[in-house]
Amino acid sequence: MRKIFVAGNWKLNKTIAEAKDLVNAMLPELEKITNVDKAVCPSYLAVPAVAEVCKGTSLKVGAQNVYWEDSGAFTGEVAPKMVAEVCDYVIVGHSERRAMFGETDETVNKRLKAALEAGLHVIVCVGETLEENEAGETEAVVSRQLKQGLADITAAQAEKITIAYEPVWAIGTGKAATPEDANNVHKNVIRPLLTAQFGEARAQAMRIQYGGSIKPDNAAELFAMSDIDGGLVGGASLKADSFVEIIRAASMVTIVVEESEK
Ligand code: PEP
Repeated sequence: MRKIFVAGNWKLNKTIAEAKDLVNAMLPELEKITNVDKAVCPSYLAVPAVAEVCKGTSLKVGAQNVYWEDSGAFTGEVAPKMVAEVCDYVIVGHSERRAMFGETDETVNKRLKAALEAGLHVIVCVGETLEENEAGETEAVVSRQLKQGLADITAAQAEKITIAYEPVWAIGTGKAATPEDANNVHKNVIRPLLTAQFGEARAQAMRIQYGGSIKPDNAAELFAMSDIDGGLVGGASLKADSFVEIIRAASMVTIVVEESEK
């Protein structure tokens, strides 16, 4: 089984002081859980402080976005090597970036390539809107986002990529996709595309996270699905207790699946 990977996306929340408090509150419990990979992604300004607190622990730190140029007249942007100086992970293509800040599959691809070049692990987000879902376009939209977002990426580079399937209608709404529906997209849309581009072995090793209203009470059933290899968690990652509960659920699923595979 693929090791479950759960990442918290704190979005535009938490000052530097609040971010340090939050991560300090999570760490003691998270450090006890070794069979799950975990990360938190604070807003840019809090990343160095959180990374400092997490140094030497099992909790990885990421940024929520990155630009594709190394330097120059790009006011307000942050370069891949600047992110890589302080943390290991970055999210690209989050639906909020696409919907509110004009990001496209093409710019997602540029960000991804530049981030990989800088040595970062990248979480690439894809997912359909409610209208697209209701029009039966989920497969077409996710396929387009994935093909264009991952254009020109090699199997070797893909080792540092995690895909996050986040149906837009499930983000922040309290209405998660059913485990079966999410798993269907992971297993029958995303994994086959990864296989076509990177080959069977790499595609099987890659983690596909689900994101959209993951909570402590629905996490276990989601993570128990064959092709849901973790989660990208927004709201529930802003409280130490709920994030820890979600990671604990991932840990229990891992133990149960490993037992059943013996
Ligand atoms: C997200 O921000 O990527 C997300 C999935 O948010 P939430 O868990 O709040 O739905």
